[in-house]
Amino acid sequence: MSAPLQRVAIVGGGAAGALAAVHLLREYREDCPLQIDLIDRTGTFGAGVAYGTEEPLHLLNVPAVRMGAIHGRPEHFHEWLAERGEPAAEEAFLSRGHYATYIRDLLANAEREAADARLRRHHGDVTAIVEHHGAAPAPLEVSLADGERIEADRVILAIGPLDGGDPIEVPEELKESGAYVADPWAAGALDAVRQDREVLVIGTGLSMVDIALTLCEGGAGPRLRAVSRHGLAPRRHRRTLTNLRRFHVPTETGRLEPMIAAVFAQICRVSQQGDDWRDVIDSMRPVTPSLWKALDTDEQRRFLHEFHRLWDVHRFRMAPEVADRFEALEGAGRVCTESKAIVSLEPHGSRVRVFLRSPGATDLDEVEVDRVINCSGAGTDLRRQAPPLLAGLISAGLARPDALGLGLDVDDDGALLGADGEPSERLFAIGSLRRGVEWEAIGITEIRDQSGAVARKIVRTGETEEIPLPAELRPVADTPTTREAA
Ligand SMILES: Cc1cc2nc3c(=O)[nH]c(=O)nc-3n(C[C@H](O)[C@H](O)[C@H](O)COP(=O)(O)OP(=O)(O)OC[C@H]3O[C@@H](n4cnc5c(N)ncnc54)[C@H](O)[C@@H]3O)c2cc1C
Repeated sequence: MSAPLQRVAIVGGGAAGALAAVHLLREYREDCPLQIDLIDRTGTFGAGVAYGTEEPLHLLNVPAVRMGAIHGRPEHFHEWLAERGEPAAEEAFLSRGHYATYIRDLLANAEREAADARLRRHHGDVTAIVEHHGAAPAPLEVSLADGERIEADRVILAIGPLDGGDPIEVPEELKESGAYVADPWAAGALDAVRQDREVLVIGTGLSMVDIALTLCEGGAGPRLRAVSRHGLAPRRHRRTLTNLRRFHVPTETGRLEPMIAAVFAQICRVSQQGDDWRDVIDSMRPVTPSLWKALDTDEQRRFLHEFHRLWDVHRFRMAPEVADRFEALEGAGRVCTESKAIVSLEPHGSRVRVFLRSPGATDLDEVEVDRVINCSGAGTDLRRQAPPLLAGLISAGLARPDALGLGLDVDDDGALLGADGEPSERLFAIGSLRRGVEWEAIGITEIRDQSGAVARKIVRTGETEEIPLPAELRPVADTPTTREAA
């Protein structure tokens, strides 16, 4: 006798939602009929903000051989390129638009191979998920803004980062005139900016770098002044692959100092062996969630306060070609990054007057620019500003924010923890929503593994399996001091 139909709704059709569908379809067996509803408010599937760009200068920030999207197969993207007759070097950084083609191809193949499973794509905004009482087992009801209702036995939340909103109060007049660009990734948002002379960017991370290359390459476009409190720009990748190793980081104390000391000691050690800090940062990736979980909440908060930006600029690096171009723009005086806090914005004719404060200064700097672009990043406090979907789940007790409010509380399998702390059998999260619990949660490496694990859990309910360590995580150079991380 075959099992009853499993209906799985996936909210969010970016890379994470598409990969959840891919892994569910790959787990599909004929004796377990499956229906997947993949829902996205933009009506696009498999790209999201990261890979939705057609700009060839927007490159991946991870080498090709580590961008595989199939659980346990980090080299799969590199193999896929070769199979299509587009071989690339292992260490190549390819365009993000090309990566969207890869994810969509994976989804189409998985769909074809699991022909009896049903995948339905919906263009819609999910506003609520409620438990539908009265039937046994009670299905979940997924409500869309247009009134459509979808019944599901399980729901996977893959909604990407929280909306960060405006980093400062923005006068309505600036929003209406277009002199303030709230979302540079929105279609056509940068069209008019190309004609500007002076533009201020709020934020100095990878998104700012993308915007700089989009607007300033080729000698045309405005001069960009990018500001953030820390003023740090992302570091560059080196041209060769980093060597991944295992090394011991003490977790017993729950304190940050011994962990940081161990990381610095390892950096000294690999430097003596002719490598550099990048090997250490990249080697930490698979164990970062366990290190993060070993810290108590106060120490996690301290990390966010004291080390977050420093970590980000070393962890999220520019591809070498991107760094070359960005540094050339800096050298030509087309782009500069500064440590300044924005105090206020006000309209000034057709331009914007911006008041800035340097660290430690009491006086304000005043500058006038044609436009201000917000690249300040994702939201960091769900408790202050939850989207309606999450606010509804939290108020119904079906979910709760993590201790820091960066996302939702989940167990090791990605199951949402309810108000009572119990893991849900039916609600799961992948990607950014797991950031507060796992910290390292938003890249493809993590998303592919989370998707694989959630899909396995849903399709093979009750079965457990040891997951082999992916090849990329096996040590390449075992030193006498190398010990397994926790
Ligand atoms: C510019 C940029 C470049 C990056 N480059 C890399 C890289 O090179 N390598 C790497 O590993 N990672 C990279 N990342 C990290 C990236 O976050 C992940 O790789 C991945 O794209 C995240 O996908 P996601 O599906 O979780 O989020 P998103 O891409 O944000 O997708 C979430 C989707 O959910 C939809 N959605 C949200 N709420 C609802 C709702 N209520 N109803 C319906 N739909 C909803 C949104 O419309 C969106 O399409 C990059 C990120 C950015 C922003």
